[in-house]
Amino acid sequence: MYKKNKKNVSHDFKLYKCCGCEICADACPTKAIVMKENKEGFKYPSIDNDKCINCGKCLKVCPMRNSTFRVQKYEKPIAFAVKHKNEDDRSESRSGGIFTALSDVVLNNNGVIYGCILNEKFEAIHFRADNKEIRNLMRGSKYVQSSMKGIANQVVEDLKNDKVVMFTGTGCQVQGIRQVVPINLQKNLLLVDIVCHGVPSPKIWREYLQYMSKKYNGKITAVDFRNKKDYGWKDHVETIEINGTKHDSKVYTNLFYNHVIIRPSCFKCPYKNLNRPGDITIADFWGIDDVVSGFNDNKGVSLVLINDNIGKEYFEKQKNDIIFKSVELEKTLQPPLKGNFIEPSNRKKFWHIYYTKGFEKAIELYGVIRKASIEDKFRRKVKNLTNKRK
Ligand SMILES: Cc1cc2nc3c(=O)[nH]c(=O)nc-3n(C[C@H](O)[C@H](O)[C@H](O)COP(=O)(O)OP(=O)(O)OC[C@H]3O[C@@H](n4cnc5c(N)ncnc54)[C@H](O)[C@@H]3O)c2cc1C
Repeated sequence: MYKKNKKNVSHDFKLYKCCGCEICADACPTKAIVMKENKEGFKYPSIDNDKCINCGKCLKVCPMRNSTFRVQKYEKPIAFAVKHKNEDDRSESRSGGIFTALSDVVLNNNGVIYGCILNEKFEAIHFRADNKEIRNLMRGSKYVQSSMKGIANQVVEDLKNDKVVMFTGTGCQVQGIRQVVPINLQKNLLLVDIVCHGVPSPKIWREYLQYMSKKYNGKITAVDFRNKKDYGWKDHVETIEINGTKHDSKVYTNLFYNHVIIRPSCFKCPYKNLNRPGDITIADFWGIDDVVSGFNDNKGVSLVLINDNIGKEYFEKQKNDIIFKSVELEKTLQPPLKGNFIEPSNRKKFWHIYYTKGFEKAIELYGVIRKASIEDKFRRKVKNLTNKRK
């Protein structure tokens, strides 16, 4: 139980796993919270105790501690396989282009979209779009934690001004927005969460860009975290454009899949299950060939989970723009919908090598796909046995 005293507030932030959504900093009425990057490059709240009035708002909005009761939430999500009818829209999107179809409904209704873009320094940040040009920058997955600075307050402001708002982000970001928006303003809010493996460190992303820039002796001009146009939907190759020339690589991709650069709280994520925080959940539809034969053309299929009546209403509104098939939920369950990944035993070693020997040495050892160590295999076995006994 939360008790009002200064010690508790700061202690709680340390004790509880912080997901870095930044909602507490936005929600704080006295601006006592500033987000600061730690050694790994992830942001954590730092509290100015002279400004803190112990109101507890920061703890109330934290998505790692709370989940607001939702009247209309379905007992279990309704699942669909989706492809956007427009091939250009699908090709620009990570999976089947459902984000474009849903956000078109909102934009056509004079609404606004919040999602993740890359800024001029190729940093991932959340941003507001009131037109398709800016919305299009949100398409494509940026495999790095995005900054949410100031976003929660902008969302609330838009809703107060009677705008229809669609917010997209990771499960924790979406739940944070749900916590911070007063119930009476939620009628015009559509929340869409992406199924998320975990968010990588912005510091390592910066290091990687510097490394590529040095290696090819030039300025980064464009990046594509997952080059679907050249490699198809299923492959995962990043493409970094330097002085206009494209360079393909799997170094960053491998660091991501080896789980060594993922935020610690992602290994204890409360949203790696079917208790979805969004009205709609979107993902890549992995395993589609076993569920709907002939639907996959390697240009991208979205998995769409409808979690409540608001989600259903918007899904109905965009149906003309998509090809869709109703599917059995049980057949759609990829690992991040079933539970947390085990933190790899060598995550600490990766960071130790990075701090002591630098980025290049670290990627020499960890920028290739790692076979599970004996220790990891043993831990997985023990976990499986424990789960079976539960
Ligand atoms: C860090 C990360 C991990 C992911 N892990 C998985 C996974 O394990 N399984 C899986 O099926 N899919 C994963 N995805 C992909 C995600 O499911 C796709 O964004 C989704 O399939 C949407 O497809 P689309 O074609 O409609 O999206 P697009 O049109 O490509 O739109 C992309 C959407 O993702 C949002 N977005 C992009 N980058 C970020 C970011 N860094 N933080 C928050 N929001 C972002 C944008 O705002 C936009 O709403 C991950 C994406 C990210 C960013």
